[in-house]
Amino acid sequence: MPVFSKALVGRFLHENTDVEVVGGVITKVIPGLDTYDISGVLVPGFVDAHAHFISYALSLNRPRLDGISDPDEVLKFVAAKAPRVDREVVIMEGYDDTLWRRPLTRRDLDRITDRPLILRRICGHKAVLNSAAVRWLKERHGPIEGLDEETGLAVEHLPLNLSRYVPPSDREVETAILTAENLASRLGIVALGENAKAQYVRKLVEMDGEGRINLRWRVAVYYSELGEISDLLNYTSERVRIVGVKEFLDGSVGARTAAFSFPYGDSGGRAPLLHDDDYLRGIIEAAESRGLGVWFHAIGDRAIEQALRVISEAGDPTRHRIEHFLFPRNEHYRWAATLQVGIAVQPNFTRRWGRLGGLYHKVIGDAIYWHNRFRTMENLGVRYAFSSDNMPPGPIYGISGALRHPVREERLSLAEALYRYTGAGARLLGDDTYGEIEVGKQALLSVFCEECVERG
Ligand SMILES: [Zn+2]
Repeated sequence: MPVFSKALVGRFLHENTDVEVVGGVITKVIPGLDTYDISGVLVPGFVDAHAHFISYALSLNRPRLDGISDPDEVLKFVAAKAPRVDREVVIMEGYDDTLWRRPLTRRDLDRITDRPLILRRICGHKAVLNSAAVRWLKERHGPIEGLDEETGLAVEHLPLNLSRYVPPSDREVETAILTAENLASRLGIVALGENAKAQYVRKLVEMDGEGRINLRWRVAVYYSELGEISDLLNYTSERVRIVGVKEFLDGSVGARTAAFSFPYGDSGGRAPLLHDDDYLRGIIEAAESRGLGVWFHAIGDRAIEQALRVISEAGDPTRHRIEHFLFPRNEHYRWAATLQVGIAVQPNFTRRWGRLGGLYHKVIGDAIYWHNRFRTMENLGVRYAFSSDNMPPGPIYGISGALRHPVREERLSLAEALYRYTGAGARLLGDDTYGEIEVGKQALLSVFCEECVERG
């Protein structure tokens, strides 16, 4: 191999490093040479420990409305594209109405087609439906939470769970998996902790059997769909494994549905926990009896405390995970370290919403200082890894978030951040045969440019 100007060896960045690979395994690592052939940072392949690559790819493969800045232009585009979509329900993705003079409503869409039509906003939390789509959904699912039938506007529940209401075809899922693999590889990712619907898991296993999967997929299936893939739970290959059961303990900060111990600063409201402890204990039991771990989504401090409490009673807390772990209180960081429960955080959230004056600050005030305390986690020995949650996908944006935490003392060095997006992720996904540049490890490697991180 050529000599790289930098390489992450163990947990440190070394200059001018040569790595020898034979038969896909690292056989020699020689740092500190006089000169280099390639200016770039050689790292173990990135691991995105909490991702939604398949649903992200599904949305990429639909007609996209990104970059269309005017509602009339959107309507023109939709009218032209809709006839070419050969699905019963036409879905288009990615409109951004931030700067529009008026919102699109049911009546606008009714004028361009009488087929069921749903446009989803770029954030995934909002959608607009025409009358045919409102009828189509009502006939099949009854009244839907958050859908205003008069305007055709839907917030939160429907747009976020669109694939549950309008399931993609198997063919679409297959194409999405190929798109996801492609995109993730281009981002330097070699392994994913994927949150997946049963339908996606089945397709992944099928495609893996046909030798069409290249990345390592470690999958958590939604608890409500666990029964649908009971025949697949013993499936194991190097590429695809079902490792977890996913459940939500609360919602998100943006939707004011994350469960905090204090009221929201702007709305004054409080969000409830979504489940009681007994229900969560049942999930842990169901997971453990099947050799799986739980992946509990917990954002607010109340939800995090609940996750820690029920996991602390589990047979083996170390096999379970808390996803996001975004606003823990001091004692929760210590508790997570003591339990050695797995933690998947998103440094990109810090970059995107965690600055002073940003979304978190506006919505929950000073509790912003509780979030993503990377240095605290390093010092306490919390078992944590980085991930993107596909907002946006890819490690570089997130890594720059870890380097620019609003609290200076909580920032990580580049080497530390890289380790959390590589070796720590591989371990969190239950594998230490790759994830580090070390003799004997599999040579799943990536290269990126250091300036890219500075630019973010
Ligand atoms: Zn997620």
